Amino acid sequence: MATDFIRDIVEADLKSGKHAKIVTRFPPEPNGYLHIGHAKSICLNFGIAQEFNGTCHLRFDDTNPAAEDVEYVDSIQEDVKWLGFDWKDKLFYASDYFEKIYGYTLELIKNGKAYVCDQTLEEIRRDRGSFTVPGKESPYRNRSVDENLDLFKRMRAGEFADGAKTLRAKIDMTSPNMNLRDPVLYRIKRATHHRTGGKWLIYPMYDYAHPISDALEGITHSICTLEFEDHRPLYDWTLENGPAPCRPRQIEFARLAVTHTLMSKRKLLQLVEEKLVSGWSDPRLPTLQGLRRRGYTPAAIREFCSRIGVTKFNSLTETALLEDCLRDDLNAHGPRAMAVIKPVKVVLENYPADKTEELDAPNHPADPSLGSRKIPFGRELYIEEDDFREAPVPKYHRLVPGKEVRLRYAYFIKLEKVVKDAAGKVTELRCTYDPATRGGDAPDGRKVKATIHWVSAQHALKAEARIYEHLLSVADPNDIPGGEDFKKYLNPKSLETVTTCQVEPALAQAKPGSAWQFERQGYFCADTQDSKPGAPVFNRTVTLRDAWAKIEKKQI
Ligand code: ATP
Ligand code: MG
Repeated sequence: MATDFIRDIVEADLKSGKHAKIVTRFPPEPNGYLHIGHAKSICLNFGIAQEFNGTCHLRFDDTNPAAEDVEYVDSIQEDVKWLGFDWKDKLFYASDYFEKIYGYTLELIKNGKAYVCDQTLEEIRRDRGSFTVPGKESPYRNRSVDENLDLFKRMRAGEFADGAKTLRAKIDMTSPNMNLRDPVLYRIKRATHHRTGGKWLIYPMYDYAHPISDALEGITHSICTLEFEDHRPLYDWTLENGPAPCRPRQIEFARLAVTHTLMSKRKLLQLVEEKLVSGWSDPRLPTLQGLRRRGYTPAAIREFCSRIGVTKFNSLTETALLEDCLRDDLNAHGPRAMAVIKPVKVVLENYPADKTEELDAPNHPADPSLGSRKIPFGRELYIEEDDFREAPVPKYHRLVPGKEVRLRYAYFIKLEKVVKDAAGKVTELRCTYDPATRGGDAPDGRKVKATIHWVSAQHALKAEARIYEHLLSVADPNDIPGGEDFKKYLNPKSLETVTTCQVEPALAQAKPGSAWQFERQGYFCADTQDSKPGAPVFNRTVTLRDAWAKIEKKQI
């Protein structure tokens, strides 16, 4: 089993008896769809719970009513399940704790650890100081406990306007850690919350609600990403100074960043809202819905998360590694089929016009349990435009005038004549076939240097193929400036729609979501939204080429 520094901590805590049972949580904010970065956190939190016989909670961190929505709550649950994890009855919402967090806060105030401040947010920011300049104490910092209790209750009751007052922790305005310079714990906000409606006018800040929610749920290890490392003292302070029922430990790990794609929810939302992609499930996006529609399997994503491991160092992971995990899975399990993406017609001059036959083809070269199918063959066929050259090219062994190639599962054919239209465009390749080579082998033992795929023109079905490339035209998303400019870095060639595709008849009834290896072309799946029986639409999931192996080789 893979291990890492977090699993080491968990194991040591079990061994020492610090904890008898491990409890982790995955805490998404329902303000967007989950992406592959979240998958890393899901696999880590649910994975640890599984491996150490513990439990993992799914908790919606819904403390910011403005950006949150039930659409996101639903999609997040669907995605976590799809990825293969089960929170059982442990589904929670931070908003369910609002009353308890409020009660916790009254205790904190009674302990003299929090005060109501009348400064505006600008004044608070101004007086916070900087890394070199200490902060200035608020003039309201020394209010009495009674006055603070009274004002805080009146904040809740709606006596003050939004932003007129905040509740702040009383820690240390000179702390070298900016997060400890009397951070805001509560703000007044009149907004409709997706669960509590208009009940609350005050909302706890994330940094404050999070440790309390963890403690209320008995979380043992609160695993989060590296940018929260500087917030850990506030996490601990919150639990030390109020009536926390237990003391979860926050542990940080590096977030996932992948080449050629975006992981920022804000930027992804912008692409969706401005219709630069077809929606959250656009197959170019790194969202779990996008990856699923693209043809990614949960097993491949889990394998990826296991291969990248967990560290404390931010780094950039190659998309090729993700693709390679997928290829391994699809190669082992995906049935084969033949599809010609950019067709050119072949006419077999010595094949009878009224004859058709059925040839046997295995559905998988190594797994007989996937069975076999019959492929119709006739006088007119389609082959890939790219599998033919009129003039011989060195090292090009596919169809050229006068040479033989093998049609997969069928016959040897030889190119006799190239037919062109008035504009010089190739319209037909006149060939002959050798009836003695049925099934793909010559009885006289003669060899060909290439095997190409094909479909019978009479039986094939027209289909649409969507060929995807990277979302971004630059590898490192960190090189992209903020603001609006990131859209200039979108790859204009990220989607090519090919409507000329001809597929073998077995694919006519392709079930949306089902996947194949189109021989010599790549892995494809029938689109879950646009593919219809008789009019299939295929997404190219990933190419056959093993780019990752090449990268690894280069590094050796
Ligand atoms: P936001 O800025 O909206 O908070 P977020 O990506 O942190 O964005 P959350 O919904 O808070 O979104 O994330 C839920 C959990 O997933 C958090 O624990 C977060 O640390 C983790 N997470 C988010 N992005 C990544 C990533 N790229 N790699 C690993 N974990 C991530
Ligand atoms: Mg977050």
